[in-house]
Amino acid sequence: MIEQHPQSASGVEVTLSKRLSLLPPYLFVEIDRKKREAQARGVDLINLGIGDPDIPTPPSIVEALKVAAEKPVNHRYPETEGLPAFRQACARWYRNRFGVILDSDKEVLTLIGAKEGIGHLPLALIEPGEVVLMPDPAYPVYYSGTVFACGEPYFMPLLKENGFLPDLKAIPQDVARRAKLMFINYPNNPTGAVAPLEFYQDVVEFAQQHNIVVCSDNTYSEIRFDGYRPVSMLQVPGAKEVGIEIHSLSKTFSMTGWRIGCAVGHPKVVEGLCAIKSNLDSGAFQAVQEAGITALEHAEEVATAHSAVYQERRDVLIEALRGIGIEVEPPKASFYVWAPVPKGHTSASFVDMLLDKAGIVCTPGRGFGVYGEGYVRIALTADVSRLREAADRIARLRL
Ligand SMILES: *Cc1c(COP(=O)(O)O)cnc(C)c1O
Repeated sequence: MIEQHPQSASGVEVTLSKRLSLLPPYLFVEIDRKKREAQARGVDLINLGIGDPDIPTPPSIVEALKVAAEKPVNHRYPETEGLPAFRQACARWYRNRFGVILDSDKEVLTLIGAKEGIGHLPLALIEPGEVVLMPDPAYPVYYSGTVFACGEPYFMPLLKENGFLPDLKAIPQDVARRAKLMFINYPNNPTGAVAPLEFYQDVVEFAQQHNIVVCSDNTYSEIRFDGYRPVSMLQVPGAKEVGIEIHSLSKTFSMTGWRIGCAVGHPKVVEGLCAIKSNLDSGAFQAVQEAGITALEHAEEVATAHSAVYQERRDVLIEALRGIGIEVEPPKASFYVWAPVPKGHTSASFVDMLLDKAGIVCTPGRGFGVYGEGYVRIALTADVSRLREAADRIARLRL
């Protein structure tokens, strides 16, 4: 006789893990909900919310994927560490672009996007209770990856008066002693700030002093303006001995949907991250990696073309914001404008008002951390005519 357990009739009672309750509502889920509500009301929305390029992937990269997708060898499981040819292409690109020499065998790992590598990295390094230093405001995954690994986040404020660079000297000694990992991100999301090589020198020195692994998220290095060229942390002598840099093809090549990037640097960190990945995912689709090789080979021309598009948009938006009294620093890189909110507003109330009264979606700075309060992030992910339209609508609000 099979006993009928009373619960089986009504299903199990699911309790989600505590670690999930530690997460703030993922920023863009919240914005998506409001966006859908506005769309349902028939509003002609201008979406400057998510940092997702509207420029399509260059056709030569799409063609390369088509060819690679036809090959049966690519239909099988990839190696977790990635195709040797893709890792060599990453190493070649680092040499050409930054003058950094990498061993593609031991110092380069293919990622299923930068987010995947960032999210998994703490699992490879952190014991419960160890401190992870991260910026505030910041890309949310430094925090969620840390919390998933039972690490203890410590926020380094990014303040305007410091050029949105963390003040390493302000980190208390006991925190630095318990810290195992530090995330930094320049060109920065959400502030659009850039870091000079001297900053990376300070970071490397700090990491050496306190025995902290550094993860430099260099996702936006190729979206750059006015002739400025972002640098890599790995250009600092000794940097490869203190950590890794994460790079992504998402933003440079408008390939966010493709899920491809790389982690490069310290061989032991690369090895640990690869061990986590081999147990949780099985690497990136090889056809995407082959297309990624084509992308990296055309990095210079694509980056130049796409950056020119974003630069024109940046200028249109900045001029419009200045016209209505919002004084904004034009970013030297990334595709974000970090604008202070008008007096009397919080970042959330300003974003709500822009959505309700102007049909414009942007992101409240508070969503990136406590120190994001007082700002909104405007992504340059709509064309010039839409940005002008957005500017007109804002002007009509009479702030
Ligand atoms: C977009 C973004 C990422 C994630 O990029 P993917 O390669 O698409 O996962 C990582 N870091 C920052 C700062 C980003 O803005």
